[in-house]
Amino acid sequence: MRRVSEHRRRHRGGVALKPFRYERAYDERAAIATLAATPGAKFLGGGTNLVDLMRLGVETPDLLVDVRRLASDRIDETDAGGLRIGAGVRNSDLAADARVRTRYPALAEALLAGASGQLRNLATTGGNLLQRTRCAYFQDVTTPCNKRDPGTGCPARDGEHRNLAIIGHSEHCVATHPSDMAVALVAFEAIVRVVGLGGGREIPLVDFHRLPGDTPQRDTVLERDELIVAVDVPALTVAVNSTYRKVRERASFAFALVSVAAALDVVDGEIRDVRIAFGGLAHKPWRAHVAEAALRGSAADTDAFRRAADAELAQAEPLRDNGYKVELARNTLVRTLQELAE
Ligand SMILES: Cc1cc2nc3c(=O)[nH]c(=O)nc-3n(C[C@H](O)[C@H](O)[C@H](O)COP(=O)(O)OP(=O)(O)OC[C@H]3O[C@@H](n4cnc5c(N)ncnc54)[C@H](O)[C@@H]3O)c2cc1C
Ligand code: SF4
Repeated sequence: MRRVSEHRRRHRGGVALKPFRYERAYDERAAIATLAATPGAKFLGGGTNLVDLMRLGVETPDLLVDVRRLASDRIDETDAGGLRIGAGVRNSDLAADARVRTRYPALAEALLAGASGQLRNLATTGGNLLQRTRCAYFQDVTTPCNKRDPGTGCPARDGEHRNLAIIGHSEHCVATHPSDMAVALVAFEAIVRVVGLGGGREIPLVDFHRLPGDTPQRDTVLERDELIVAVDVPALTVAVNSTYRKVRERASFAFALVSVAAALDVVDGEIRDVRIAFGGLAHKPWRAHVAEAALRGSAADTDAFRRAADAELAQAEPLRDNGYKVELARNTLVRTLQELAE
C-alpha cells in the first residue's frame, strides 16, 4: 500500500499547480480552433475531475477553455421520441428530470449512485463521460504508468489491481472506466454528438470509449479538438423497466467494483427485450451483448439469468487478485434481472 498512501499524502498536502491560462468560451468554432491551435489546451467542464488531476500533477494544461457557458444545459425531446441531453447539463439536473426518471430510471439511479450531491451540482454530462480512471498508479506521478506516461510500464498488472479490469485489458493497461452514468447510457444505446475542426459527427457511446490495447493513453476515440455538444438517448420502450445496481466498498464516495445497468421487457413469462451493461469490469462501460442474445426469447427465470451471465463472463480474464469480480458480476446481474422480472 506504500504507493497509495503516498498518493493520499500528496493529495492532502497538495502540490503546486503549474501556472495555466484560463479563457471562457462563448463561441463554439473559436473554442475548437483554440484547442486545435494550442497543444497544451484542454476544455473545462465542471472541473471536478480535471482540476483534481491538475492538483496531483497528472494533468498539466497550459490553457483551460471553459465551455460551461457554451455547452447547452437543456434536455430536449428529439423528433424520434428520445431525449437530447446538452453537454453542459449538470449531473444533478439530469438525475432530477422527470422524463429521465420515468423513461430511463436506470440513468437517474446511476447518476445518483455517483459522487456526492455537491459534486453532481457541478459535474457536466460531457465531463462525466471523459473523467479518467481511478487507478491509484495513474494518479501518483511518482510511479510509472503507461496511461499517464506512455512507454513507462504498468505497475498495476503485477501490483495492486484488486479493483481493476477483468475483461478486455492488455499487457499495457488493466484500468477500468469509472463513470456510472456512462454504463446506463451504453445500455440505452446513447449517441455522442461532437463537433471538431472537420465538422460534426455522431459516435455510438458503445464505441466512444476504447479498450487499452497498446495505446492506453487514449481513453476514447475523440480527437483533441473535438467538443462534446450533446448526448442523444433514443426512444426505448424496454428502458421504462430498468434499474442500476452498484457494488462498492463503502456506501458513498466510492467507485464501482462492479455495477450493472439493465432493462427487461417480459411478456407472458418470456423475455421480449433486454439491455445490459456492466461497469467496473473493463476500460470502457461493457455492453453485455452475449448475455442479451442468450436472454432474448427465453424464459424470464433465474436459470436463464445465470446461463446468460455465465455466457457473458466466459470472456473474463481475471488478474491475480481480482477473480472475485467474476462471481460478483454474475451475482449482481442475476439479482438485478430477478428484481426487474418481479
Ligand atoms: C470525491 C469524488 C467522488 C466521485 N465519485 C464518482 C462516482 O462514484 N461515480 C462517477 O461516475 N463519478 C464519480 N466522480 C467523478 C465525477 O462524476 C466526475 O468528476 C465528473 O462527472 C466530471 O465532470 P466535470 O464536468 O466536472 O468534468 P471536468 O473535470 O471539467 O472535465 C473532465 C474531462 O472532460 C473534458 N471535457 C469537459 N467537458 C467537455 C466537453 N464538452 N467536450 C469535450 N471535453 C470535455 C475535460 O477537458 C476533461 O478532460 C467522483 C468525483 C469525486 C471528486
Ligand atoms: S492499469 Fe493503466 S492506468 Fe493503471 S498503472 Fe497500468 S497503465 Fe497506468
